[in-house]
Amino acid sequence: MSRISPPPPQHKRLARSALAIAEPRAERLFTGIAVSAGIGIGPVFGTTEPDAVITRHKIQASDIAAEGARLEAAIIQSRRQLAKLRAKLAVLPEESQAEIAPMIDAYTRMLGPSRLIRGVRQRIEETLLSAESAVMVEAEAIGDAILAQAEPTLPAEDRAGLQRRADEICEIGRRLVRNLTRAPFRSFAGLPQGAVLVAESLRPADAALLDPSRLAGVVTEEGGADGHTAVMLRALGVPSVLGATGLAHVMKPGDTAIVDGATGRVVLNPGAGALTEAKRAVSAFTRERQRYAKLRRLPAETADGELIELQANLELPIEMPLIVQSGAVGIGLLRTEFLFMNRETIPDEAVQTETYRNIVETMHGDPVTIRVLDWGGEKEIEALTLAGVVPELVDTNPALGMRGIRLMLRRPELLETQFAAILRASAFGPVRVLLPMVTTVAEVRAAREVYDRVARRLRRRGERIPEKLPPLGIMIETPGAALSADALALESDFFAIGTNDLTAYTLAVDRSESDVAELYDPIHPAVLRLVQFATEAALRTRMPVSICGELAAAPHVAPLLLGLGVRSLSMNASAVPKVKQAIRSVKIDDCIRFARRVMEQGDAERIREMLETFSTETR
Ligand code: PEP
Ligand code: MG
Repeated sequence: MSRISPPPPQHKRLARSALAIAEPRAERLFTGIAVSAGIGIGPVFGTTEPDAVITRHKIQASDIAAEGARLEAAIIQSRRQLAKLRAKLAVLPEESQAEIAPMIDAYTRMLGPSRLIRGVRQRIEETLLSAESAVMVEAEAIGDAILAQAEPTLPAEDRAGLQRRADEICEIGRRLVRNLTRAPFRSFAGLPQGAVLVAESLRPADAALLDPSRLAGVVTEEGGADGHTAVMLRALGVPSVLGATGLAHVMKPGDTAIVDGATGRVVLNPGAGALTEAKRAVSAFTRERQRYAKLRRLPAETADGELIELQANLELPIEMPLIVQSGAVGIGLLRTEFLFMNRETIPDEAVQTETYRNIVETMHGDPVTIRVLDWGGEKEIEALTLAGVVPELVDTNPALGMRGIRLMLRRPELLETQFAAILRASAFGPVRVLLPMVTTVAEVRAAREVYDRVARRLRRRGERIPEKLPPLGIMIETPGAALSADALALESDFFAIGTNDLTAYTLAVDRSESDVAELYDPIHPAVLRLVQFATEAALRTRMPVSICGELAAAPHVAPLLLGLGVRSLSMNASAVPKVKQAIRSVKIDDCIRFARRVMEQGDAERIREMLETFSTETR
């Protein structure tokens, strides 16, 4: 098998050339899923033009068959992506459909028995090029041949037509290379200051590379409300809309967009009216932020004096200043995936210790709950693939496969290194350790054995770790874990309820899939009953329980959660003031009575109405 090398001395890029003819730009409205509040206005920047930088790579004759199989797999994957896109076009106005559909059809045809695919196969077999190199070379050769026909004497429309065909070849070549390499193909180097980033899809690892200070907003055609990309964008505080079908395919360099991350509306090439309205909304949003900032020093206390623990989730170290300013008292969920992303090797104990220690020290004595690596599902991590820890080919059902604690127990060296780093960092401030995706008591017992063993080894090594080890808790994020919470409570030191995965697994809805986004509903009574069951199991054993899924960030849901007995919530830093305000305006007894009424309901819509009414009345 060939493998893509790190940035090569000699490389080629599949570059996108712009269409030659400028067209008047009409204002167009797109709607998607609102995932990160705020209004952004700026020039669009498309990442359908990824810098797929690859080495011109040779293979052995004995690899020809394997290389051909990789190409086949990439063709199938590309066809699937295009078919999905084609099916989604129905939500668009007719004129947009008429514009995008022929383009998608042309791409799809090129993935059939086309000159491109024939040429690629030939290059693999006859010149022993790797599949990605063969695609790149062949697409460029065809593109050049097409453009060579664009004589200056040809009418402008004919030249534009040739340019369009060359672009299409280039585009399909890029898609194939992307699917072949599965490498982090987003380069944000050329991102202009204040741009709106537009992509067909964005992986969590790509989002982790974004610099929020350079971005006005993000829009993608794929993605769900609580997928990890959404979680990451919220953490960065960038106004974002996901699942806005069609935008990436109709926008052109030089276009402007308004992104409204609270309503899910995206206006392409806004007219004067839309621009004025957006600017007004930006000012209102800034005023709201200033109002919330005043809450920072006030306690998260109900009107009748019950103190609630409000903490922040951390996805990326870049969020630390935001967390410190938010008024959060500690970090309730430190997702450690960022440490493993966008790098070629697995971080060792020293690197991990340093990172955790910095975070713990910055929190100045406020507690930090560090979750061990939760690989799996959409959280793709190259370093693990390159190290051979996880297979290159993804499972058919990755969300049901080797995720979270399952992988860590299968590869105990990973778990040992991470436990060791967390334990060493715990000498510098209060820490808790959290296990993801637990479904059985055996997993907790096995993890605790490793934990104790690592602690003994560190002590033998003379490392300074606390006398009493940090609490070892578990995520409750599958229906199985929620329903066996009473048994799990006997093995764990605390629960953190992850409503994102809990919703996905309970309702059988992919949390990052825009097609089924309407079905993804954390206030579905089935999810709430599981939250209630797990919370009560924890309270019976007087064990700490918190909610750290996105549900915790919804101010109008806070009274219900308090009424169910939850006293600790962890959320993205920007939600802390809003939730604090909601908490300060309710009384616990009212919340308990309200929760009782809500839990009698069987219909999510009715529950939504009740939540809205209750929060309006107590505002
Ligand atoms: C959850 O599933 O609710 C959770 C907090 O974990 P993550 O979003 O990282 O999967
Ligand atoms: Mg989860």
